[in-house]
Amino acid sequence: MENSYKRRQFLHHLGHAAFAVPCLSVLSLDAAASNYLSNAQSDENDSWQSEPRKLGIALVGLGKYSEGQLAPALQDTKLCKLTAIVTGSPEKAQKWKQKYNIPDKNVYDYKNFDSIKDNPDVDIVYVVLPNAMHAEYTVRAAKAGKHVICEKPMAVSVKECQEMIKACKDANKLLSIGYRLHFEPHNMTMAEFGTRKTYGKVKKVIALDSQEMEAGEWRLDKQRSGGGPLMDLGIYCVQGALYTTGELPVSVTAKFGKNEDTEKFKTVEQSISFQLQFPSGAQADCNTSYADKQNLLRAEAENGWFELSPAYAYDGLKGKTSRGPLDIINVNQQAFQMDDFASCVLKKKKSKVPGEMGMRDVKILMAIYEAAATGKKVMLKDLV
Ligand code: NAD
Repeated sequence: MENSYKRRQFLHHLGHAAFAVPCLSVLSLDAAASNYLSNAQSDENDSWQSEPRKLGIALVGLGKYSEGQLAPALQDTKLCKLTAIVTGSPEKAQKWKQKYNIPDKNVYDYKNFDSIKDNPDVDIVYVVLPNAMHAEYTVRAAKAGKHVICEKPMAVSVKECQEMIKACKDANKLLSIGYRLHFEPHNMTMAEFGTRKTYGKVKKVIALDSQEMEAGEWRLDKQRSGGGPLMDLGIYCVQGALYTTGELPVSVTAKFGKNEDTEKFKTVEQSISFQLQFPSGAQADCNTSYADKQNLLRAEAENGWFELSPAYAYDGLKGKTSRGPLDIINVNQQAFQMDDFASCVLKKKKSKVPGEMGMRDVKILMAIYEAAATGKKVMLKDLV
């Protein structure tokens, strides 16, 4: 209820604001949902009043993101709902079964996960595990005949990304990455301002995303994370720079920051700064750290600037420009993202955040690590 109100507000805002963005792709979501609902109703001739079936989602990994964001968002979605869980913890299974009314037959562990193929209640598997497990569970889900949403970063190597894309293609299933900010109006306004040159040509992007990380997290273990803050947070800087410029970078330079806690940062970097060079001559200056607090996406253009801070949070995003503040509402990003994917599945249409985009970004992340390790500029080729 609250979400549909927010959606209406969002549409209203976009239709009337001075800086209205006429063709945000996120706008198509409401239309897609309404179309689907009315089509499904007219298809189901037996009763126009009956509710169309929402697609079933199985969450794999019931950690902080599943518990705090995805499961609550799934109470707000129009086209999909939480029908199954995959967890290694019997205690968590018990808690979730009660909280979300999940029947025993829809509770899996990591060993019997493949039998999900026989479960018609599950259309989509959402992989929310440590980064190094994304590839295995995406491939297993595709082999079980399910569509897949995989969290970011897509995987810890380009080879794994290729295997994931192939598995979904072979199974004729859709794959998308949990890039929620592509369904978030502040960030998509940055993209529109940049690509439409609302403030003239973008010359420089500044993207900073840093959070303090507690010891003991799998994120500090390279085996499970694939890398430090770059893999976890820096990926938002890469994404922000690409959608704000609307360009693919041609080269990258990078430098690791100082390691001030060699016990904590034994296998991953504490921080890294990097620069992306774009064909237009624009440059993105980025920084990400596990020992700081930063959250900014800023573009400096020929005739002004525009920025978000915080830019990558789940809620409370704020924007301002050289012409004044941005008055944009915050939406339930994860609900929008999952409904958009459900709409893609229903329409057999590729997601706007597909596996190929996830692989493109992993290629860039690997090039950033290479540039930092060698101290040399790394040229970026064959990103897509
Ligand atoms: P988390 O540590 O809170 O949860 C991880 C889950 O995986 C836990 O339930 C844990 O029990 C399970 N798990 C299974 N095998 C494990 C192993 N060998 N080691 C550690 N955990 C294991 O992590 P999280 O914050 O929920 O992140 C999960 C994924 O979601 C990551 O890929 C992360 O990048 C992504 N994420 C995305 C967003 C976003 O905004 N899109 C936000 C947070 C996390």
